[in-house]
Amino acid sequence: MRAHLQSIDELSSLLAAQRQAFDQQGPVSAEQRRSRLQQVIDLLVDHHQPLAEAMDADFGGRHPGFGLMNDVLGSLGSLKHARDHLEGWMADEPRPVFAPYDQLGAQGWVRYQPKGSVGIIGTWNAPLFTLLSPLACAFAAGNRAVLKPSEIVPRTAELLAQLIGERFDPLELAIITGGVEVGQAFASQPFNHLVFTGSTEVGRDIMRRAADNLVPVTLELGGKSPVVIGESADIAEAARRLAIAKGTNGGQICISPDRVFVPVAQREQFIRQFAEAYSGLYPTVTDNPDLVSVVNERHLQRLDAYLDEVRDLGVEVVQCPDVAFDASQRKRPLSLVINPPLTSRIMREEIFGQALVVLSYSDIHHVVEEINQGERPLALYYFGSDQAEQHYVLGHTLSGGVSINDALMHAALENAPFGGVGASGLGRYHGHEGFLEFSHVRTVYQAPATDPRGDWGMLPPYHEGFTAVMQSQISR
Ligand code: NAD
Repeated sequence: MRAHLQSIDELSSLLAAQRQAFDQQGPVSAEQRRSRLQQVIDLLVDHHQPLAEAMDADFGGRHPGFGLMNDVLGSLGSLKHARDHLEGWMADEPRPVFAPYDQLGAQGWVRYQPKGSVGIIGTWNAPLFTLLSPLACAFAAGNRAVLKPSEIVPRTAELLAQLIGERFDPLELAIITGGVEVGQAFASQPFNHLVFTGSTEVGRDIMRRAADNLVPVTLELGGKSPVVIGESADIAEAARRLAIAKGTNGGQICISPDRVFVPVAQREQFIRQFAEAYSGLYPTVTDNPDLVSVVNERHLQRLDAYLDEVRDLGVEVVQCPDVAFDASQRKRPLSLVINPPLTSRIMREEIFGQALVVLSYSDIHHVVEEINQGERPLALYYFGSDQAEQHYVLGHTLSGGVSINDALMHAALENAPFGGVGASGLGRYHGHEGFLEFSHVRTVYQAPATDPRGDWGMLPPYHEGFTAVMQSQISR
């Protein structure tokens, strides 16, 4: 048996073998969990450079330094945090026992046990992070795992598969590469938990397939994350921070700002200062090594089509930086699309690229209404210093997570859950909540030596006054 699996049949056999090994092993010690995590950490430390180069090549232009920051250091953060905290997370937790059994010596506790084998399907936009960050929590919880990288980044997927094949016992960690068909077959396997990161549409299909085997799922999906700029906001600083966030991975991030609501009086200032800030970060387009390419032709056509449609409708589009570029390359300037109609594709679909919709408003209540008319987003951003308004916006909306006066940052909190709500996802990982997600929380009750129920007249055959005694206990 090998860790780099070659077929779905091999995957099925491996899962059965992982199950057997899991049942035979019993408790998974903290030491063993740490050692599994350390093996992944060592793999990343030993091979970070070729992995970053593979991601650069797969994107056709993704700065290797950015690959190290986003995928290697991002994954290492999750793995090390899990390694250094799992012992505290996995300890049994006493729970109070009901009276009067507590007086008789009964005890209660919960214990956190691994579920078994966790399947993890990743995306192309953060090819290592979407596999290895959930793996950190799955391993911390004592599970075994199988990974399925995205076929859209084949060099990265193959290199990771080769490295896992060389370094891991398949009974602990295995990997299978392939496209949609492999993904479908993978999601149909009887895992003990399945993590899927990807689009909302595919997420629905994954959940249907998992349902056949009653496999619990964590769905890390996408959506149109809104930004609300209040009147009290420092517009220049908001524009600068949003330009930084929007440039990250060329906008190909699940929590990338998708549309910005800006007070009508500050609209022109925002557009000007965003354009200045973005053009300062990326003064050129063609051959600019800092600009992340659109991952492939299909996504390039999708993004170009959004812009063609709104231009045909006469919508204002501001290009940043305003320079000529070679359209045969997959590097693109960022386009600010001002007040497009609700029916346009860019208003209906997750942008996931270098465009940002700017919508001007005159009443914050209408902004909240508009956000609530759409699907629940993965992230929401509020800029401003007006506490009452901030509470209003956060209190009347729901999203996976929130950053205030910045964007993307909440996802970097290592010991706070990351996940969506509604159409943006189900479940969560990162830190302690991630450990809980992949653990079976098992309640244990230990009885006292004596059983007083007979003496108390609580057992059949019930005596005459039994109902009256029960009625006397009913209270508000
Ligand atoms: P995708 O849904 O096309 O693919 C994701 C994975 O699923 C890939 O490994 C792919 O091979 C596999 N797959 C595709 N179709 C499948 C099917 N029918 N059955 C089973 N597996 C299938 O997503 P993508 O284009 O790789 O990623 C972009 C999407 O992912 C965006 O919507 C983005 O917001 C979301 N995303 C979410 C997070 C998060 O943490 N919430 C992180 C990154 C990306």
